[in-house]
Amino acid sequence: MSARVQIPVGQEAQAAKGWIGAHRFLLLRRLSQTFFLVLFLLGPWFGLWVVQGTLAGSLTLGVLPLTDPLILLQGMVAGHWPEVTALVGGLIVLIAYAMIGGRVYCAWVCPINPVTDAAHWLHRRLNLPKGWQPKRSTRLWVLSMVLIVSALTGVIAWELINPITMLHRGLVFGMGSVWAMIAGIFVFDLFVARHGWCGHVCPVGAFYGLVGSKSLLRVSAANRSACDDCMDCYAVCPENQVISPALKGKPGSSPVILSPDCTNCGRCIDVCAVDVFTYTHRFDDSLVAPSDPVAAPEKRAARPI
Ligand code: SF4
Ligand code: SF4
Repeated sequence: MSARVQIPVGQEAQAAKGWIGAHRFLLLRRLSQTFFLVLFLLGPWFGLWVVQGTLAGSLTLGVLPLTDPLILLQGMVAGHWPEVTALVGGLIVLIAYAMIGGRVYCAWVCPINPVTDAAHWLHRRLNLPKGWQPKRSTRLWVLSMVLIVSALTGVIAWELINPITMLHRGLVFGMGSVWAMIAGIFVFDLFVARHGWCGHVCPVGAFYGLVGSKSLLRVSAANRSACDDCMDCYAVCPENQVISPALKGKPGSSPVILSPDCTNCGRCIDVCAVDVFTYTHRFDDSLVAPSDPVAAPEKRAARPI
C-alpha cells in the first residue's frame, strides 16, 4: 500500500496558478477592507471628509447617506423612529446587500474579518482541535436576543459591544481597551471555537445572511467534475458546510452554492488547483463539463477539515 502524502493546504493551487493566482481574492478582499476603513479615517485623521461617520451611519460627499440597517432595526424596536435621511441610508444599504449578497459585508467590508481570518490561519498551522461548535443557528438566536434586549431596554443593544463600531471609534479616539476586545475575538476563534465569532456568534453576519438569502452574486462549483477531493476548499472555507450540496450534488443538480451562509469570500476559488469554482449569479446552473460526472479524476488523500 502506498504511503499517503499530505500536501499543505493551497500548495497545489500555488504550483498551478502561482502565489498571486492562489491568493487573488484574498488580496482583493484585504484591499477592499482597507479601502473602506481608510475611507472613514480620512476625515478624522487628515481632514479629508469624503465620508463623515462610521459603518454604523455615514454621509458620503455630503449627499449619499448610508446607514447600518441592523442599527436602524434595533433603534426602531427600541422605540426610536429614525430621521428620513437615516431611513433612506438604511434602505440603500439593504437593497445593495440584498442584490449582491448579504454576507459580502462579512468578507469584503467588515474590519474584524482579518482578525478572524488570522486566527483561522494559525488554527490550521497549529493543527488545533475544532473546539466548541454550537449550531450555526446560534447566531440567529444572538440576533433575536439583541432585538429583544433593545425592545426591553430602549437602547440599541448591540452597539454597546459591537467590535466593528468599537474599532472605528478606537482608531479615531485611541485604541486602549479595543485591543483587548480584538485579542479576545482572536483567542476565542483560535482556542475556544474554530470560526467561532463569525460562524456562530456575530449577529451582524446573521442579519446580513438573512438579507442576502435571495441575492444574485454566488459561487458555483461549475467545474466539479475536475474535483480530485483534495479538500483544500473545505479547509479554508469559513462556512464549509455550504460546499458539499454544490460540489457533491447528484449529477444534474445545480452546482451553485445557494446557502446564505456563504460569504462570497472567494477563498475556495483561490485554493482550488483545478479551478472548480467560479463567481456567477444564482440562476446560472450551467456546468463546464456537460456530462457532469461528479467524481472523475483520481482521488487524493483527503486531509482532515
Ligand atoms: S473543489 Fe475539489 S479539487 Fe478543488 S479544492 Fe475543493 S476538494 Fe480540492
Ligand atoms: S464557499 Fe467559497 S466563497 Fe463561500 S464562504 Fe466558502 S470559501 Fe468563501
